[in-house]
Amino acid sequence: MIDEVKNLHVKDRVLGNIRGVGPRKAASLALLGIHTVEDLMLHYPFRFDEFSAKSIHFLMDKEKVRLKGKVINQPTVQFYGHKKNRLSFQLAMEEGAVQVVFFNQPYLKEKILVGRELVVDGRWNSKWKTLTGMKILKLSSSKEEFAPVYRVNQQVHQAEMVKFIKYAFSCGYGKFLEENLPCDLRDRYRLISRQEAVYFMHFPRTDEEYRQALRRLKFEEFFYFQLQVQGLKRKEKKESIDSVITYSKERVENFTASLPFELTHAQKRVSEEILADMRSKNVMSRLLQGDVGSGKTVIAALAIVAAISAGKQSAFMVPTEILAVQHFENLHFWFQSFSMNVVLLTGSTSTKKRKEILHLLKNGEIDVVIGTHALIQEDVKFSDLGLAILDEQHRFGVNQRKLLREKGKNLNILLMSATPIPRTLALTLYGKMDVSVIDEKPSGRMRVETRWVRHSQFSAVLDLLEIEVSIGHQAYVISPLIEESETLDLKNVTALTEELAKHFGGQVKVALLHGKMKNDEKEALMLNFQQKEYDILVSTTVIEVGVDVPNATMMVVMDADHFGLSQLHQLRGRVGRGSQKSYAFLVANPKSEHGRKRMQILTQTDDGFLLAEKDLEMRGAGELLGTKQSGIPEFSVGDVACDFRILEVARDEAVKVWKVSNWWDKKEFLELSKGYQKKQTEEMGNI
Ligand code: ADP
Ligand code: MG
Repeated sequence: MIDEVKNLHVKDRVLGNIRGVGPRKAASLALLGIHTVEDLMLHYPFRFDEFSAKSIHFLMDKEKVRLKGKVINQPTVQFYGHKKNRLSFQLAMEEGAVQVVFFNQPYLKEKILVGRELVVDGRWNSKWKTLTGMKILKLSSSKEEFAPVYRVNQQVHQAEMVKFIKYAFSCGYGKFLEENLPCDLRDRYRLISRQEAVYFMHFPRTDEEYRQALRRLKFEEFFYFQLQVQGLKRKEKKESIDSVITYSKERVENFTASLPFELTHAQKRVSEEILADMRSKNVMSRLLQGDVGSGKTVIAALAIVAAISAGKQSAFMVPTEILAVQHFENLHFWFQSFSMNVVLLTGSTSTKKRKEILHLLKNGEIDVVIGTHALIQEDVKFSDLGLAILDEQHRFGVNQRKLLREKGKNLNILLMSATPIPRTLALTLYGKMDVSVIDEKPSGRMRVETRWVRHSQFSAVLDLLEIEVSIGHQAYVISPLIEESETLDLKNVTALTEELAKHFGGQVKVALLHGKMKNDEKEALMLNFQQKEYDILVSTTVIEVGVDVPNATMMVVMDADHFGLSQLHQLRGRVGRGSQKSYAFLVANPKSEHGRKRMQILTQTDDGFLLAEKDLEMRGAGELLGTKQSGIPEFSVGDVACDFRILEVARDEAVKVWKVSNWWDKKEFLELSKGYQKKQTEEMGNI
């Protein structure tokens, strides 16, 4: 049989060569994406059924089980009615004997021999304490104890699928699976061959064989994915003379020297990365990641100083008005000894003022404009825009980013994000971008003391709240969306607000911020809180990102177990922004082990990146970034959350392929990687 297929490429081998597959089966297999013998061999089981680890005493009525035992008596067949009969025998297992019956299959009698080990699939009947057999599996050796389970459809059932796949391998088709990883890579990482791996995916004899098969195939999948990503990165890397910003090194140094603090090592490193982009022909497309409070704004300011020193304009866009005002004030303060024309443009800028600003921007008389979406209106025109910065970039849509990009020709773009994304995800999501990370906080920053308390201990929290407020500090109380209905939720949080107001009496001013308020109402309230008109802010929605109220020293999160780790970390980042000691209280009675674990982790660490990785491990990538929109590519065997080691190594190797010329024929690699294209690279976070 092998001779028949020898000289054909495995992809050309049609399913018709598989015994039992006629045109109709072939059409059904096609519905499962199986078109060739190779596809069939690459149709991996999604799980393995092992023998029931359950005690037969705990089986439910009608539960499907697989039992293994020794036949202890000769089967008897009873006939009743026309063509109806019942075969039964006893199967001895560790826990005792079980009666097994088969209906209308008298011929099985020949197969069931006393003393023989058998595996029977069937349905448990708890009334009669018998197993109604559905299928007898041969048990030649213990190695077959893993039964692969495949994705199938109505036309092709499990047993057939197993049969087809077994047949393909037994005919020797496996030999035609081509190795697609170079020897030295396989040697270096001790990866088994592709042929072995594919076979072991279906029929592993041991756990170890299965593990090795997975390891090899995951590597292969990530490697080819990364090879493409790296290729795209190179292709999309635009070079243009327009983007060169010949800044004055002296001006930049003067700026850093004028700051009231020294930049951290991490800040210095990322500044250098950004400046290198600016002075080169590379059109900058860089994501700056840094935990809350790591000091990203000053880095933005530094880039702006550089741009201005080269005679270029800058635009700094943020998601909310309050943030815009905050950044405007900061920049104003930092730039006071330099002559720079800084303006603020938001939705609430008066028509007259706006007209004037637009005029000056177009004439090049304004150096930097800070604002909200107002910046990307069509009539906003620049004379020579050299740099655009987007803060809290995840709050903007692809379209908004695009509009900003179009405000200049080959514009340098810097995106900033406070949501720490685990390195592995950044590798896959932001494959097309350069990423700079601030992984260090300014020194002298006090850690937010985080405590987990039960609901019953809430009065202790109230006591501390009272103390903090009485010494002039402010506090946030966050209540998550617990109820499905928004109205109910609002009722809960309104009740909480009233309760707090009542508890503290008239002196303490409590405000409520909720999801049903209009944007400008929310902003006005936040602004009032910032100006200390309220002591306590109760909120349902996650309060505005990036808001800096240094006087707020206490964060109370109700039902904290309803939030993810990263979210809680972001919330906690709202306090501890000044020089005062700050506290975060997680009020929760978690019901699950996961919930308890989350609370504990938060009290132990305040490293956002570590938390993000834990979050990823615990919840999976989709949930961490908001399921489908997350832009995380789908892999068939690999899992970005669990397999980050493999992903990293595969990435490094892929980078090497691109860097080291003639090391391996790149073209050949790219040819091979086509099989991995799918939608992966298209889906990647389009930023
Ligand atoms: P984020 O990265 O969350 O946007 P910010 O840029 O708002 O953080 O910075 C938080 C605070 O830390 C600001 O008040 C800022 O002035 C201050 N800051 C930034 N860099 C340093 C530094 N190197 N040393 C001390 N304080 C710093
Ligand atoms: Mg910020």
